[in-house]
Amino acid sequence: MKVTFLGAAHEVTGSCHFIETKSEKILFDCGMFQGGQFNEEKNHEDFGFDPASLDAVVVSHAHLDHTGRIPKLVRDGFRGPIYGTDGTLELAALIWKDAYHIMKYNNKKTGDPVLYTEEDVQRAMLQCHAQPYRKPFSIGSATVVLKDAGHIFGSSFIELTADGKTIGFSGDMGNEHVPILQDSEKLSPVDLLICESTYGDRLHENEKMRKDILLDLVKEGVARGGTIMMPAFSLERTQEILYMLDEMAEEDKTLPRFPIFLDSPLAIDALPTYTKYTEYYDVDAKEKHMAGNDFFKFKQLTITRTVEESKTINTAPTPKMIIAGSGMMNGGRIMHHAMRYLSDPKSTLIIVGYQAQGTLGRKLYEGATHVRIFHEDIAVHCTIKAIGALSAHGDQQKMLDWIGSAGVAPKKICFVHGEESAATVLAQKAQEQYGVKTVVPAFGESVEVE
Ligand SMILES: [Zn+2]
Repeated sequence: MKVTFLGAAHEVTGSCHFIETKSEKILFDCGMFQGGQFNEEKNHEDFGFDPASLDAVVVSHAHLDHTGRIPKLVRDGFRGPIYGTDGTLELAALIWKDAYHIMKYNNKKTGDPVLYTEEDVQRAMLQCHAQPYRKPFSIGSATVVLKDAGHIFGSSFIELTADGKTIGFSGDMGNEHVPILQDSEKLSPVDLLICESTYGDRLHENEKMRKDILLDLVKEGVARGGTIMMPAFSLERTQEILYMLDEMAEEDKTLPRFPIFLDSPLAIDALPTYTKYTEYYDVDAKEKHMAGNDFFKFKQLTITRTVEESKTINTAPTPKMIIAGSGMMNGGRIMHHAMRYLSDPKSTLIIVGYQAQGTLGRKLYEGATHVRIFHEDIAVHCTIKAIGALSAHGDQQKMLDWIGSAGVAPKKICFVHGEESAATVLAQKAQEQYGVKTVVPAFGESVEVE
């Protein structure tokens, strides 16, 4: 067996790994490259293989940087099955439709080309075949199992056995004890592990402090009296934050009652999927659900689905909070709020997720004093805060523990889905701890499974 790395190599986005067994060609993920542009030029290039020759695609989870190029794969001739959990495939369809609308909007505004049509999205949806966790299924001579990665709703890591060897692919590995989701499962013994390394060089704040840190930042933001902007990934981060805000409102009666706007059509559209597959909930979320507590509905929360509803946020009195996508501020409604409130010294920006190089979110995180949004120069005067513990990804310790969870270390590990520095640090740590061979593959590099 051989793996060729065709995305998320020395970077976080564009996850795409091409597996060749003796008789099958299988793709793990087919995500969009994302940086300064919502739809980077690289997405338009050829895949590096013939999509028509692929036997199947297996998707780890719905996030755009793992599924965003699938409709393009279909446009370019792929007609085989797309496998993932029911949660993943249902959310991926929402992601594709949302991405199409953002690309269409950007095309009108800036002339950026659109990557696929609505028909390609429809066709991709027809090629989806859901698979439950832990139940092996076949792709020709290969056997595949999906296990819970605890990263987002329906997320999995993948184990594929063929030609007498097993490859593991972490997908994105969840943080510890996140709200709503169950913890990630243990890895099986594998010959080759393809492992993410987003936070390979960092440790998050203690997860037990997560809610307290959020509560403090929200209280400070409210005290400043302006608008609290929270750019959040529409899938998972947004729902977890709503869950925590609902809990905070119940538990802390001293918290002022300020309005919270959920201004993300994709996050709003994803809510029914969350309430449909309650078997994915962890114990606490299940208990709340059984007791009739709908944690996505509470008094302070206003859902603004339409553009007209969204515009009413502008005139709502402060303090107020807006949760909007995209999570890395390279598109979506958060851009309009950023144009309005970044220059307001009373306002606050709370960054809750990974910010890729080149994105507006990264520039602000690194302290930019001036930014450009839709060709306008904006001075930054608001307060900017970041919380690592709210990240959807495990940190260095979590990744090392998960690698060791099989009991037997993998024979070789290829570190992907991380900036080169983060991937290299995690590779060194894994080598020291488990005496395992490690590789940080470059784009286009192939590795044989030994
Ligand atoms: Zn992800």
